[in-house]
Amino acid sequence: MPGGANRDVVTCAICGKPAVRGAVVDAKRGVDAFPFCSFRCQTIDLGKWLSEEYRIPEGDDQSEGVVSVDGDEPGKT
Ligand SMILES: [Zn+2]
Repeated sequence: MPGGANRDVVTCAICGKPAVRGAVVDAKRGVDAFPFCSFRCQTIDLGKWLSEEYRIPEGDDQSEGVVSVDGDEPGKT
């Protein structure tokens, strides 16, 4: 079936170059850079996700901080 090999070639989400499955392999770790064109692009993508994760708790922290203020007992002075 011709055309079935198409899934082994995708566009790198970082730089837009074609990424070929099995083309960039780290022999020591036995891993493939696919679906990125290189391990450099794979690392860049990982860094993006990590920075996104750090951002989320910052915005959500406000609602949690209000709870501790409500638990303050009167007459404790
Ligand atoms: Zn790339």
